[in-house]
Amino acid sequence: MKQPKIYLSSPHMGGSELNYVHEAFDTNWIAPLGPNVTGFEDAIQDYLNKENRNLEVAALSSGTAALHLALILSGVERGDEVLCQSMTFSASANPIVYQGATPIFIDSEPETWNLSPEHLERAIKDRLQKGKKPKAIVAVHLYGMPYKVDEVREIANRYDIPIIEDSAEALGSSYDSQKCGTFGDLSILSFNGNKIITTSGGGALITHTKAQKEKAVFLATQARDAAPHYQHSEIGYNYRMSNVAAGIGRGQMEVLDTHVAKRRENHKFYKKIFDNYNEVCIFSEPNERFFSNHWLSCVQITPNQTKTICRETLRLALEKEHIESRPLWKPMHLQPVFKYAPYYGDQVSEGLFNLGLCLPSGSNLTTTDLERIKIAIDSIF
Ligand SMILES: *Cc1c(COP(=O)(O)O)cnc(C)c1O
Repeated sequence: MKQPKIYLSSPHMGGSELNYVHEAFDTNWIAPLGPNVTGFEDAIQDYLNKENRNLEVAALSSGTAALHLALILSGVERGDEVLCQSMTFSASANPIVYQGATPIFIDSEPETWNLSPEHLERAIKDRLQKGKKPKAIVAVHLYGMPYKVDEVREIANRYDIPIIEDSAEALGSSYDSQKCGTFGDLSILSFNGNKIITTSGGGALITHTKAQKEKAVFLATQARDAAPHYQHSEIGYNYRMSNVAAGIGRGQMEVLDTHVAKRRENHKFYKKIFDNYNEVCIFSEPNERFFSNHWLSCVQITPNQTKTICRETLRLALEKEHIESRPLWKPMHLQPVFKYAPYYGDQVSEGLFNLGLCLPSGSNLTTTDLERIKIAIDSIF
């Protein structure tokens, strides 16, 4: 008999989600607005805003939509250039192209796997010399690991370029005790099915002023001018979150911290296994300033001398046991669709892609699941 499949990261409901969804049905708020949308935004704001920063949250249909609106609010237009971490999911870069702009891809540094400050600055200088100032920097907290927040901010300020913080994978992570999702000039979250909490599909834009939030909501609801009839002076989008989905989100916010704790336990579980194997390096926080939600636990496997063990050996051994794992994100500058885009780097992201593997990391993994995973891993080493 085939064992049930163990997934990389599957949705994990807390219990009260259905109450909020029922409320939406009972009151007939089945629309992209309503009390759950407002309640969900307030819950995120409270969660991120413990340090009393001025933050506003707009719940949207996806993280991708949030990135698109962040680019629009940053003034990105046709022909502009936007700097973007290469090692990421394609959704970080696609909205740059929606705006008719060109992504300029930047390599990672090896400690956080995120934006290399060195190559970022090199790229800015070179683009300036070529006559164009980049309009924004898309910085990502990959797999929940905060990027080098201080270094990237210092460069952004020095050249006066806004940061769009892609915190899709990093809700619950922090840097110097400040929550990810609060570091960008604009920031985004994702609530896709595989993320740390989900609304089945959804996202949020975090802004620092009420005016920016209002502008985002205006654009997300078809850019309708104040008039009794339908009047439009700008191109709008249909990007608002539904009140039903937001109900799921309200329930999920109640269990966010326990999800973070469980994913961090999963990371400890893997660390304990892999500390025994020299060829494997588990992706961990470089020092105590970084706090990762460990959305996904990842390893790099350097092939042993006889080449009997490499990333693929482990991936295939797990697959045979019906356990899902996946190579790291393939860098954007290696993707056929972005072949034309300039790239500044020096093989760090290529190396990560060649050696790296993401392991099952859901907050709903059971002790039995973990035992099966451990046996499958130990059997190949
Ligand atoms: C998931 C993800 C997104 C996109 O979010 P969606 O809600 O799926 O549109 C963007 N960036 C990164 C890094 C992601 O992992």
